[in-house]
Amino acid sequence: MTTSTTPLPARIKAIRQLSGDTSLFTLQLLKQSPTQQTTPARFQPGQFLQLSVAGVGEAPISYCGLPSVNGSIELCIRKAGRVTTALHSAVVGDGVAVRGPFGHGFPLEQYTGTNLLLVAGGLGMAPLRSLLLALLQRRSCFGALTLLYGAKAPDALLFRHELADLATRKDLSIRLAVDRAGACPPGIPSCSVALLPDLLEGLEIVPQRTAVPLCGPSAAYRSLIPPLLALGIPPERIHLSLERRMQCGTGVCGHCAVGTLLCCIDGPVFAYSALQAIEGAL
Ligand SMILES: Cc1cc2nc3c(=O)[nH]c(=O)nc-3n(C[C@H](O)[C@H](O)[C@H](O)COP(=O)(O)OP(=O)(O)OC[C@H]3O[C@@H](n4cnc5c(N)ncnc54)[C@H](O)[C@@H]3O)c2cc1C
Repeated sequence: MTTSTTPLPARIKAIRQLSGDTSLFTLQLLKQSPTQQTTPARFQPGQFLQLSVAGVGEAPISYCGLPSVNGSIELCIRKAGRVTTALHSAVVGDGVAVRGPFGHGFPLEQYTGTNLLLVAGGLGMAPLRSLLLALLQRRSCFGALTLLYGAKAPDALLFRHELADLATRKDLSIRLAVDRAGACPPGIPSCSVALLPDLLEGLEIVPQRTAVPLCGPSAAYRSLIPPLLALGIPPERIHLSLERRMQCGTGVCGHCAVGTLLCCIDGPVFAYSALQAIEGAL
């Protein structure tokens, strides 16, 4: 897969509010890249693109949907600073620009035949939704599929409308945790007040046949990795997405260094085995 490093124009096709500060934006590319073969709409779950708003700036954003052939791209964006606030003020039809895909995503090819335990904290659900949709598209290629997802409160759970549908599937197990009590989304059975690592309790895990894609804040990684290792999951099968301040996205500027690795080209998804010796990586 090749990357479009030139920003390509896109239009906002749809906006759906997912929580108080986070919305799902569907973009439509208006033009293919000059080489035709490169398109920011074709990617591996876990990769990201650089999204720019004219006159404001550019920000790295993970893909949260499935790759498309028609140039449609889904992004789940939290209002944080200049670019994302500009996006949240935009309306359907407004123009933006995108370049990508960048970095390494989740190693889908390694997941064939294995059980998968997906663990998402907060906005980490965005890239994991992309991965989950890709796994469900080829469901028979994978073993047992479990999603653990934690958010601050029930109304901060992203993609609630989809979680309710997913919870009815027999080939996917979902456990949800929230920091604060509140009404749980209808149709979702187990939305407990707990911390993410608590959701591991009682799970039947076959460590040698399980891979764990993780996405969330560093604090979640620090609390989840020790119990995962204690369960016997090998460090090379824990795959986590790191968030670092980025600028070029192409390994030139060095802003996103993690030890000797660069988050933008070596990551953002890393095997824990590649990070465990790097002080401050998590
Ligand atoms: C690989 C990757 C994937 C991402 N995916 C998503 C996504 O799917 N959805 C989403 O909403 N956001 C995502 N982010 C985060 C997003 O890029 C940042 O929030 C970005 O700063 C938003 O741009 P802005 O101009 O709105 O904010 P800015 O104006 O740049 O900054 C907003 C605030 O956040 C602080 N800040 C910005 N970036 C960082 C950082 N990396 N670490 C610590 N503090 C920081 C700034 O100091 C400031 O206080 C991703 C980041 C990376 C690196």
